[in-house]
Formats: sequence, C-alpha cells, structure tokens
Amino acid sequence: MTDRYGELVQKGLGRTVAKNLGLPTPIKLDRHVAGQPVIRGEVALGVATGDDTSVADCLNQFLQNHDAKITTQDKLSERLADENARFKVAIFDVTNIKDVAGLTQVYEFFHTIARRIKSSGRIVIIARPECCTDTDIGFALAQRAVLGFAKSIAKEFKKGISANVLYTQIGAEKHLPHALEFFLSAKSAYVSGQAVKLTKRGDVIAIDDKKPLKGKKILVTGASRGIGEAVVNILARDGADVYCLDVPALLADLQKVAGKVGGHALPLDITDPNAGGQIIKACGVLDGIVHNAGVTRDKTIANMSADKWEMVLNINLNAIYQINTHLLTNNGFSDMARIVCVSSISGIAGNVGQTNYAMSKAGVIGLVEATAKTFKDTTKTINAVAPGFIETKMTSTIPFAIREAGRRMNSMSQGGEPVDVAETIAWLLSPKAVGINGQVVRVCGQSILGA
Ligand code: NAD
Repeated sequence: MTDRYGELVQKGLGRTVAKNLGLPTPIKLDRHVAGQPVIRGEVALGVATGDDTSVADCLNQFLQNHDAKITTQDKLSERLADENARFKVAIFDVTNIKDVAGLTQVYEFFHTIARRIKSSGRIVIIARPECCTDTDIGFALAQRAVLGFAKSIAKEFKKGISANVLYTQIGAEKHLPHALEFFLSAKSAYVSGQAVKLTKRGDVIAIDDKKPLKGKKILVTGASRGIGEAVVNILARDGADVYCLDVPALLADLQKVAGKVGGHALPLDITDPNAGGQIIKACGVLDGIVHNAGVTRDKTIANMSADKWEMVLNINLNAIYQINTHLLTNNGFSDMARIVCVSSISGIAGNVGQTNYAMSKAGVIGLVEATAKTFKDTTKTINAVAPGFIETKMTSTIPFAIREAGRRMNSMSQGGEPVDVAETIAWLLSPKAVGINGQVVRVCGQSILGA
C-alpha cells in the first residue's frame, strides 16, 4: 500500500508547505540494489583508548576488505575543515570504556561529526555485553550507557540515519563482519535503536557472499503476499531453494509467488494438527523456516469473542510451537538450521484492541528465548524479528487516523516496506549468523512504541 503523504513531501510545494506547518517530512530511505557495496561513502572511525585491541583490529580488517575511505578520530578536525566532507558511516568501538569519565570519548567523537552525517547514514557502536562486564560495575554501567546514547542520536539525527549497538562477547569478534555487513549497508534501512548480542558460539563458515543461501532449503509461511512474499523474493535472490506455504484458499496467489522464483508452492493451513508431518513430507529436511503467517482480529477485551481470541493465538503462536516441536523431534531440521519467527512491536509494547494479537506475539518472543537455550550447544539458531508499521494489506485495513499515527510515530516518520523485514530475516538465516541466537530484532524505524 502507498504512503501518499510521504510521496507528496518529497519535493517542491508539498515539502515546503509541510516544513512550514511543522509536519513530518520523511526522506526516501536508501534501499539495497543489486551490486551495491556494503559501505556507500566515507567512514568516521573512533576507538576508545585501552588495552583490548580485539574489536579495533577486526574493524580495521573489515574496513580494509571493503575498500572503505576512513577518517580516524585523531584526523577528524583536519577532514572536517573541508566543508563538503560528509560521512555515510560512523563506527565507535567503546569496548575499552570502564567508567563514566571514559564516556566523554563518545561525546567528543559524535559531537564533532553530528552535523556531518549523510542521509540514510549508518552509526554502529560496538560494546561488550553483560556476560563480559558483570564483575566490574564501572565497566557494566559504561557499556550499558551507550545504548541510551545510540537510541537518542538516532532520534536526533533523523534523515533516515540509523544507530545500533552490537554487544560483542569477548571471542565473538569473528562474527562482527556478518553483523556489520547488515548494519552498515542499505539492507538495514528500517532497523534503528537496536541492541544485538553476538556470542562466540560456532565457527565462521566461508560462503559465496553473492549467494549466501545457496543450497539451503527454506520454508516461508504466509508466503502468498505482504511480508511473506518479500521474504520469498529476497531468499531466492540469495540463492535459497524456497518452499512457499499459505492457506489452500490462496493457492493461485501462492503459485504465482513461488513460480516467479522457481520455488515450490505448499498449500497448507499451519493450524492443521498434522502440519509438521505434511511439511516434512513435502520438503524433507529443512535448513531454515520463517514463521511469518499471522492474523489480527482486533477488539477490546470486553468486546472480544472467544473464537477471535482462539484463532489469533492458534495461528500466531500455537502453530509455530507445534511445527517446531514436530520438526525438531522428527529430524526435520539440518544441523545448522535457522528458525526465524515474526513477532511484532505490539507484542513488546501492547496495543489497545490487540490483547489477543499482542499476547500471541509476546508468546513468540518467549518461544524464541526458551528454544534458543536448548540450541546452546548446537549450531542451530532461533531468532525473532519484530516489525513495526509495515505497508501491507494487514496495515491497510487499520482506520485512517490510527494508520497515519502508526506510520509516523518513529524516527523515520514513515512506514517500513516488506523488503525491510525480508532483508533482516535473510541476514538471520545466513550460515554466518551462528553467533546470533535468541535475539529479537525490531524492524520498526525506531517506533516510539515500547522503545
Ligand atoms: P498479510 O495479512 O498480508 O499476510 C499474512 C499471510 O499469512 C497471508 O497470506 C495469510 O493467508 C497467511 N496465513 C494466515 N493464516 C494462515 C494459516 N492458518 N496458515 C497458513 N497461512 C496463513 O500480513 P503481513 O502484513 O504480511 O504480516 C506478516 C507477518 O508480519 C504476520 O505474522 C504479522 O503479524 C507480522 N507483522 C506485520 C506487521 C505489519 O505492519 N504489516 C507488523 C508487525 C508484525
């Protein structure tokens, strides 16, 4: 569905009028196009002073591999003397900051470059997670503090600029390149204000970066339209053999989506008691599953019928639990399987009229976190994405005033596109994503709901 207001304020009179009235003027976000490099402009690089060079070494190697034009913090003033100098990327390694005084380095770096970040710019801060800091309160408070900072600059900078924190466990630096390739590129257009934890589990596997999912058999539920259709397209772009599932009533649409990418159509209701068995029969052993199918049946709790309640809980939550359980206990997943569940920011923030939906989507997060613990000593992963307002058929049915509020109440002042969720899911499905397990990544343009 289209955002007419967002299009109107792109230029000319529409933009001038909106600005004069103090209305939001969302910019057109950069989105990934085939062949585009990960790093699309100059990089400002900051490293807090200290003995641990493991992250800084990794960053230097990564930036070198990507032919980045880098300005380090000691050269910033010199570079910025050129009034045309602008950065597309700013990275700050805070892993050596162990007290409040040390946080001044974060201020100095970002204060210097604050007015010099380009539209759709990318800011990434690399910090240490709790498991590395919990015996040192000064260290812990400093590393946690940067998340509040990152969430604030993303709100201040606007212009489609994102800021995210990669909490990297000591020994997990090997997983930083895969995370940076997503968070610095245009693929993460609508992901901002997030904290993602990288753990040291698993080895980094060499794969074809142009086709990272080559040879991987992946099932997508709810694949006939909206976010599911976008996921199918992106997974096929990345080389996956895609199985597309949706309700039998939508077989014609499903066949169209699957046909376009040389995938397979699987008409099936995921609440069928034998859904897991039918999936194994149709697909064999899967390397990944994207639990995307979902419904809303909104009513306040006082007005909600029992059937609306049950339908939403069954489709959005119980079906995922039943299918995962069946596949995990019947060898339906390969050793490096990736499971991605689609939750929602409603499941994090709650929403009027969505007790059933928010409950189901919060339950999905519980399922992901608990299952991730059972994967601890394996190379399987399970994660969730939590979309905010995404332009699909589902959101087109929301009444106008609520829809417009939902669309604008985020740092990007616009709704996301299905492809934004799809790119995030594809990143989590990669064989290289072994260090990411049990995480919830919001794809919400930093919605103010539940932030
Ligand atoms: P959509 O309504 O366009 O698509 C959902 C798909 O799921 C449909 O094709 C539908 O037929 C399928 N489906 C429903 N019940 C099914 C069942 N029992 N068995 C098999 N397939 C079934 O919705 P969308 O906007 O693309 O949303 C996709 C997912 O993203 C959902 O889980 C939704 O809750 C979640 N989400 C969407 C948004 C948004 O803004 N659009 C925000 C947060 C979360």
